[in-house]
Amino acid sequence: MKDAFLSLQKEATDTFKNIKETDNRAREAWRSLYVGRKGKVALLMKQLAGLSVEEKKEIGPIANAIKQELMQLFKTHDARGANARIDMSLPGRIPERGHEHPLYQVMDQVISVFLGMGFDVVEGPEIELGYYNFSALNIPKDHPARDMWDTFYVRHGKEEESVVLRTHTSPVQIRAMEHRTPPVRLIVPGRVFRHEATDATHGSNFFQLEGLVIDKGIRVTDLMGCLSAAMKGLYGKDTTIRLRPSYFPFVEPGFEVDISCMMCGGSTQPPYQGGGRRDGGCSVCKRTGWVEMLGAGMVHPVVLKNMKVDSRKYSGFAFGMGIDRMMMLAYGIPDIRLGYSGDVEFVRQF
Ligand SMILES: [Zn+2]
Repeated sequence: MKDAFLSLQKEATDTFKNIKETDNRAREAWRSLYVGRKGKVALLMKQLAGLSVEEKKEIGPIANAIKQELMQLFKTHDARGANARIDMSLPGRIPERGHEHPLYQVMDQVISVFLGMGFDVVEGPEIELGYYNFSALNIPKDHPARDMWDTFYVRHGKEEESVVLRTHTSPVQIRAMEHRTPPVRLIVPGRVFRHEATDATHGSNFFQLEGLVIDKGIRVTDLMGCLSAAMKGLYGKDTTIRLRPSYFPFVEPGFEVDISCMMCGGSTQPPYQGGGRRDGGCSVCKRTGWVEMLGAGMVHPVVLKNMKVDSRKYSGFAFGMGIDRMMMLAYGIPDIRLGYSGDVEFVRQF
């Protein structure tokens, strides 16, 4: 048995020596024949199983050593061969470059429009105290408005002790005003969290961008002018906005702000003459000509008070928009979850 191994070793070594350095195919055949999974060495090693314990102790290590030696022989020469095969004249492989996620592309566009209008960018913590997330924003405990925000609690307890994953970017307004005095113009981009079932249009985490303006004599018309200019900056100079009454606890009055549809230009005229349809628009605006874009309103006097701002002297407006929704509209993405899927094939498209 030992002799069988030694003669196989000699045979393999001799054969290898006769293979030309450049003959890769022959070397690969040699590897397969001798040290491959079903090669001669493996076959011989199988026979070890039939030996007595004594014989195994003697021949086992020898067999292993021979196998290692032969594999090393192949590897060493293969490495040398590989080096010799490098063709320096070939063009290199171009490393793949990453780019910004479509969510951040949209976020940056929005930020740059507001920077151009003199806003500051402010950020705050994603894990927030219950006080900043709710009470300071005029959402007292047990207030039905809290049902609007299904909250992830990090620590559930009394209001002053509770810690939450922030449900909106609005708490940053309060934090920012602790170190500022009016006039202020700031925007707050960031990730927010809601404890809700996810579907094509709802995620348990998503991105908002929030704005706050406080100064003397700020009125609803200032809000309209500011948002109108911002939406023109984002979607073109022909974009118009409209306000509908709505309710948010931290503003009074509150509005939903729609913009004229960026796909069909807000046209509710028939798209063609002579057809049976009398409605215009498109699928993005659901044939209404308008697309819901923002929530907004005049900052509630209680919130101003919590910001230590004198509401008899100053007034302000706030607004917020969903960056995910804007990304979906901008790129025609049908499902909000795709942005968080971690799928490189998805991100590469944009
Ligand atoms: Zn449309």
